Amino acid sequence: MEEKKTVFVTGGSRGIGKEVALKFAEDGYDVILNYVSDKTDVDGLTKELKDKGAESLILKADVSNAEEVENVVKQAIEKFGKIDVLVNNAGITKDNLLMRMSEEEFDKVLEINLKGTFIVTKAVTKYMMKKRQGAIINLSSVVGVAGNAGQCNYSASKAGIIGFTKSVAKELASRNIRANAVAPGFIATDMTQVLPDAVKENIHNQIPLKRMGTAKEVAELIYFLGSDASSYITGQVINIDGGMVM
Ligand code: NAP
Repeated sequence: MEEKKTVFVTGGSRGIGKEVALKFAEDGYDVILNYVSDKTDVDGLTKELKDKGAESLILKADVSNAEEVENVVKQAIEKFGKIDVLVNNAGITKDNLLMRMSEEEFDKVLEINLKGTFIVTKAVTKYMMKKRQGAIINLSSVVGVAGNAGQCNYSASKAGIIGFTKSVAKELASRNIRANAVAPGFIATDMTQVLPDAVKENIHNQIPLKRMGTAKEVAELIYFLGSDASSYITGQVINIDGGMVM
């Protein structure tokens, strides 16, 4: 029998990350995921994954804290022996216009979105390199490609993720590890739920497909990039945005 594969999804408790975890579980992977909020229903998540056939390891760990990340990866290796796919999904926004943005707002977003991606990737690739196999998918955003007023911190973090992804793809290709980024447009999750209705209306008008995307649609793309079906794709940024940025 073929050995079961494992996926590590950062920030897998809600939104896109949760859909990604469920999609991989459905397709036969065991799942490692982390979160930060004390409100997270770990038992509920464990059950949802179990119902899809997956064993799971669900731990509280901040992606910007190297020690906490190392602990997750160590426990994951002890439990599953390997990590085949890494999805760097955890991310936050702290929107403000440039003139009103504090250094704290700028630093916090860069620390979690960009440095967190670095910390987790470094901790996981150590084991992928030993196996000479792996796929990494990083969550960028269309605003990392095209910019967005009121999000200079977030856009910078997501543009940084693109450079990071391409460098890692070049560095690790010889070890049979692929790295790609996905750049979602506006996806209906808690992150976009907070936007005022007028802003949402304006967003719909900018999207050729005239609607927000769903977390499930993003999960399908991420699953493809983690699977062998994409074995010749590395170092790419794939937009999933209803045609918003062409
Ligand atoms: P979301 O619904 O706000 O969920 C964010 C997830 O990240 C939660 O699981 C949260 O955990 C976790 N998280 C936040 N800070 C963390 C930290 N320091 N350490 C570990 N986990 C942390 O977000 P989403 O909309 O699903 O977005 C997921 C990713 O896609 C993000 O990187 C986002 O930038 C990107 N993206 C989203 C959109 C969109 O329109 N939604 C568009 C483009 C890109 P808790 O539940 O514990 O808080």
